[in-house]
Amino acid sequence: MGSLRGFICLLVLVAGSLAPAETPSVANTDSTYQSLRNITLSTESISVENAVLKRDAGTFTFQSGTICFLQPVNGKVTGAVFVGNGTFTLEPPTDGERRALSYLTKQPDKMTEEFNELTLRFTDGTYEELKKQGFKAGQGTCSPDPLNDSMKALRNRLQLRYNLIGRILQDVLSTEPGGLFAAFIKGRKYSGKMLFIIDPHGVPELNTGFSLAPEEVALLTYDENKEGIWAAFHLAHEYANSTVTNSERNGWLHIDSQKIEALIEKSGRLSAKASTTFAALANGLRVVPLDLYPTLRVSSVTDAAGKPLSFIQEDKDEDYQFFVILPQSLKKGETFTITTSYAGKDAVSNEGGGNYYVSGGARTSWYPNTTFEDYATFDMRFTYPKDFKLVATGVPVSEKTEGNQAISEWKTPQPITVAGFQFGRFKYEKRELKEFNNFTIEAYANTEPPDDIKALERYTEEDGRSSILAGNWSTTGMIKKAMGEAEISAKIYSDYFGPSPFNRIAISQQTAMTYGQSWPGLVWLPMSYFYDSTIRHQIGFDDLKGYFKTVGPHEIAHQWFGHAVTWGSYRDQWMSEGFSELAASLFLQFIQRNPQEFVKFWEDQRELITERNRQGFRAIDVGPVTMGYRLNNTRTGNIARSLIYPKGGYILHMIRMMMWQPRTGDELFKQAMREFVKTYHNKPATTEDFKAIVEKHMTPMMDLDGNKKLDWFFNQYVYGTALPTYKFEHTFENGANGGTILNIKLTQSNVDDQFRMVVPVYLEFDKGKVMRLGSIGIQGNRVQQERVDLSGLKERPKRALFNYYNDVLCSVEQ
Ligand SMILES: [Zn+2]
Repeated sequence: MGSLRGFICLLVLVAGSLAPAETPSVANTDSTYQSLRNITLSTESISVENAVLKRDAGTFTFQSGTICFLQPVNGKVTGAVFVGNGTFTLEPPTDGERRALSYLTKQPDKMTEEFNELTLRFTDGTYEELKKQGFKAGQGTCSPDPLNDSMKALRNRLQLRYNLIGRILQDVLSTEPGGLFAAFIKGRKYSGKMLFIIDPHGVPELNTGFSLAPEEVALLTYDENKEGIWAAFHLAHEYANSTVTNSERNGWLHIDSQKIEALIEKSGRLSAKASTTFAALANGLRVVPLDLYPTLRVSSVTDAAGKPLSFIQEDKDEDYQFFVILPQSLKKGETFTITTSYAGKDAVSNEGGGNYYVSGGARTSWYPNTTFEDYATFDMRFTYPKDFKLVATGVPVSEKTEGNQAISEWKTPQPITVAGFQFGRFKYEKRELKEFNNFTIEAYANTEPPDDIKALERYTEEDGRSSILAGNWSTTGMIKKAMGEAEISAKIYSDYFGPSPFNRIAISQQTAMTYGQSWPGLVWLPMSYFYDSTIRHQIGFDDLKGYFKTVGPHEIAHQWFGHAVTWGSYRDQWMSEGFSELAASLFLQFIQRNPQEFVKFWEDQRELITERNRQGFRAIDVGPVTMGYRLNNTRTGNIARSLIYPKGGYILHMIRMMMWQPRTGDELFKQAMREFVKTYHNKPATTEDFKAIVEKHMTPMMDLDGNKKLDWFFNQYVYGTALPTYKFEHTFENGANGGTILNIKLTQSNVDDQFRMVVPVYLEFDKGKVMRLGSIGIQGNRVQQERVDLSGLKERPKRALFNYYNDVLCSVEQ
């Protein structure tokens, strides 16, 4: 999220056709919204004794105390404050969630918390239900503090930073009954800042950097010193009816198309007019929630006829979420077009020397947006200073200059997950691969370094120690390498995963040093990638664990995983990152500079998964890959990166190794992956969707349960945290017929009794030649002995090897 404070200017001054009509700003002026925003306690209260309020998996017991209700708005009571003695218990509906919760609470199965104060906000039947319990009208009064504290936490950028009032307004102005329930629990045991929330439209993004939707129920803490998501799951009735899926679409709207006209000034200031056409996914959509970067300030929103619409956008440093209020509610499937005029700095920043940085947070929200899995078409027109070059997602339609400005237009031939651009003073190259379906590759590098690198150069010159910054600081020399990597990866991936989803890829340089990112047809690589190893060493970016060898191929692979196929929810994001890691390993394997690089790559991944972080945790232990970024919390640290990338990759690597056949090699694996990409083209895929496709193509050897299911493997490695330890011993002896006999002793430990694996054994011959002999099936903590007659072999092997390609994610005992 953005981090800069400053003056907010709502008056937009832009050139030419982009100038929005001088409509007065109507932000936050809706009277119902204002009533909700300034709400206070009413005089209505009840005294409660052992009252119970059950909300999904959460139960509130009010042993004694007073409940005071908030003032009604439009005849609806949207909250209450409780003061007294109460208990909250949470019993998650799944084994995985019970395990994850007890990992944090250290209580088995369910969590119990005590409180003396509670604030409830709701649009469901909570008010009626509490009243129905027949308690007598309250004598006491309630302090307004709990309510005020919850309102402050919602605005605080370090806490919830979510405009819950906008969300409540959605239900208050809707023609449909609401189902929202939020409890701010001032807990005594775990945290005084705990939120239990139920939203039938998916838990909204609460300053976590990612969304828990489509899951509807969550418990989290928002204390800066004790922050994390304790539980998240679907509604109870979905489990009861077995309809749980993370490809559920319970959001409010689907964006069909975007028409964006954007002006980027030399300073980096962005002003734009976006016409967004969307369809309601539910009846009663009147207040439309959209994601727009906080520093991009909206000056007006109009309907298709140009009539101004009321909207909500609070301070950029507070609960900034953007909502548009339509004249009346839409029915499910009904479409509407809004045009939003907005502008601001910080979404794009001028880094000096013709380098511009599109803020990581703004890349999904530089236009009013929904979520990744919502594919839309784009028609974009950019205006920018003419000495710069702009490259964007989609297909370039036209490029021209007018006076001092350059104008380029971009269109998408098919709906895409997200649109973006990169621009600056670039040197670039472009190549069309005629033999490869006219696939186009472009690479862009800045001709000058940004200010902070220039300052570093200046500093060393002044210091007289220029030798410590020796080497070539120009980044344009790496254009060829980027082009080459893009070409090789695109060809390998098209073979393994099916045809390239976008017939074009542009690799661009960004000033960020520590990450790359991939949008459909457009890749940002870190500036550090464009330096040689001498320079990288001097700026402290040595090639730890092969990062610079694989960042390009990894980002290119996201064209397939993340964009051609996207993830169903945060629980499936491991596939996007993990499969891109697997793809990068294919790149390393096939460029064959050194065959050991491929083996080393997986060793590095295993280290990432099993080394202890600063908080003392190993990524593999904190939870399964299906918890995604939820694994980051203040207790176990930011550990998700060390799990979902390397272990996600390992899971697919293990599948690849199990599917490998001596005669056909990777053929089965390729068939499965191609079918996966084709089946889920322009759709979100869940972990379960992927599992079903692998099951269709798996070998008989993988079918350990004889039921054509891979539950055994997924339960251990995908939904579980298993890590077996192996000890491999072997001897050769002469057989009766003069051949060789191999005796193998394999010990499996540190697993539960049900754990099963198929462990491959290889033979090494002269000149480093390695061949797979076969596999050993093993269950539980035990020793498995095998005696293999090798008399059919022409050559006597030098030794037997176990797990040569790191086929199985495990620890090895020497
Ligand atoms: Zn990635």
